[in-house]
Amino acid sequence: MPLELIPNPLLSKRTTLRLGGPAAVEAVVREETDLDELSEFLTREALPPFVIGAGSNLLAGDGPLELALVRVADCPGPERVERDGSTIIVRCGAGLRLPGLLGWAQKAGFSGMEGMTGIPGTVGGAVAMNAGSYGVEIGELITRVRVWTPTGGLVWLDRGQCSFGYRSFSLADLPGKFLVWEVELGLGESDPKAVRSAMRDVYRNKKATQPVTAKSAGCVFKNPPEQSAGKLLDKAGMKGARLGGMAFSEVHANFLVNLESGTAADALQLMEMGRRRVKEQFGTTLEPEVIVL
Ligand SMILES: Cc1cc2nc3c(=O)[nH]c(=O)nc-3n(C[C@H](O)[C@H](O)[C@H](O)COP(=O)(O)OP(=O)(O)OC[C@H]3O[C@@H](n4cnc5c(N)ncnc54)[C@H](O)[C@@H]3O)c2cc1C
Repeated sequence: MPLELIPNPLLSKRTTLRLGGPAAVEAVVREETDLDELSEFLTREALPPFVIGAGSNLLAGDGPLELALVRVADCPGPERVERDGSTIIVRCGAGLRLPGLLGWAQKAGFSGMEGMTGIPGTVGGAVAMNAGSYGVEIGELITRVRVWTPTGGLVWLDRGQCSFGYRSFSLADLPGKFLVWEVELGLGESDPKAVRSAMRDVYRNKKATQPVTAKSAGCVFKNPPEQSAGKLLDKAGMKGARLGGMAFSEVHANFLVNLESGTAADALQLMEMGRRRVKEQFGTTLEPEVIVL
């Protein structure tokens, strides 16, 4: 099958914030053989590529975006590949949704990821963001990762070749852009019922403290060292602050929500207002966690 190319894909349909105008094109990669064609396509089009996962950490601009989106779809796996002492090594493709991976691990009785319950992204997006919550970041579990670049093709990199930070992931050997193709994670073994119960606890807590079903991109700002961005925004009077169709959630001040017909322009203006107030009142500069396109 030739590489699937979708002209003018709407970012508002591909992001959980439901914001954003059309990109120039979207290339949908399903199997390894598509990657050679992708390389030729990117050279030919000469548009800046942007790898998109579930769009759950993106704030895309309202106007047309001169970008070639690249999306990994139809992933095989997850599968258990081997045991290393008491650790079970699990392999999965980047396009798989994290909730699907967690559900599979729960049934198999593999533990370690329960804290990430409720993160709606893909595995590739979780690796790229080093996503995490409730004491677990995906980077802690990665044993190796397979990445692709147009010039270097697909390569497996060991954990030691990866750098994980707070919501960041980088590769010393590949300083430019890369696509995460698949990943291996080291998990523990547990009773499936215990894994399910831990996942339920996390989700119950998140439901009580976050607008989990709203149109959002999760936390918009990173927590400054030793501080909570949500608490700072709350104290600065931003909880529930509204502009047009966008608002800082009444439930959690660090979640920007699209109430109905919000625009990226409103979202960016609200973020700027929140940043300014927090800076003025507490001297702290908030850095966006959400990727602005
Ligand atoms: C309700 C809600 C709750 C959330 N809770 C949390 C939370 O608790 N903790 C947390 O960390 N995040 C949370 N998030 C944010 C988000 O879900 C995570 O950042 C997630 O990992 C993003 O994955 P994605 O597939 O949606 O990536 P996208 O949003 O599509 O992209 C995010 C970044 O990852 C890159 N990327 C995506 N796929 C690949 C790939 N295959 N290869 C290379 N780069 C790639 C993109 O280029 C972009 O830079 C939440 C979001 C929502 C909406």
